[in-house]
Amino acid sequence: MIGIEGVVNRRRFLAGAGVALSVGIAGRRAARPTDPVVVRVWFSEAAAAHDSLADRVEGYLGSALEAPLGAVEFDFVPSPVALPAEGGKRVLSMHWPSRVVEGAVGMGGVDPVDGVNLLVTDGDPRKQPAGYARPHVAAVTGAGYIARMAPATETPTVVPYSVRAAATQLLLHECGHALGLGHEHGSARRRDDAIVASPMVGSYVWAPDHVRENQLADESACGESFPRDSAAPNRRLALRFTDCAEQALR
Ligand SMILES: [Zn+2]
Repeated sequence: MIGIEGVVNRRRFLAGAGVALSVGIAGRRAARPTDPVVVRVWFSEAAAAHDSLADRVEGYLGSALEAPLGAVEFDFVPSPVALPAEGGKRVLSMHWPSRVVEGAVGMGGVDPVDGVNLLVTDGDPRKQPAGYARPHVAAVTGAGYIARMAPATETPTVVPYSVRAAATQLLLHECGHALGLGHEHGSARRRDDAIVASPMVGSYVWAPDHVRENQLADESACGESFPRDSAAPNRRLALRFTDCAEQALR
């Protein structure tokens, strides 16, 4: 994971994405530290059929990123992207990152930005992997669920667990990774009768032991330990990053 210092420029983007620098750099404007972070969003063909999707993506992701990053600019690409499938490891972790990297060197129809290049598909977020990220690139399934969330302005920052809310939180999780955050920047806190998982921990706190142990260290970077599932009966999801994650994003 690379840290993010303001806005990363295209050269660092390419280096982070593992591209040999040869073509496509000259003449492009390098980002200045005062430029807002740009999140460019592509929808799959099936995702593009959900009317409220763009509003929900901008509402929830914008609200979560606003505090640490200030102005965040959303740029929704008007034409949907044709994919071999709406989900699955190949599409999320190989096909999409390859298309972004190809676009960065001037090949193909994807024109990436220095901030986050986000793909949203209508794949089933209950199937693993539900999302994927690497520096500056994120892909998530669950478009239909995200679109059915109430508008962000009408939703509390902590909500009961549901597939809709988990898909929305996954959007924050993968974009957090794309901006340099890890699972150690998350928290799971006991509040009353529930465990509240922050976006960078998400559902891992309730995962089977072998998954949980692979994904979560014993302690977060903020010095908190992650409670066990048995610590509280109810599950809630936070739709804002932890203070620790926000500091890392700044
Ligand atoms: Zn993750």
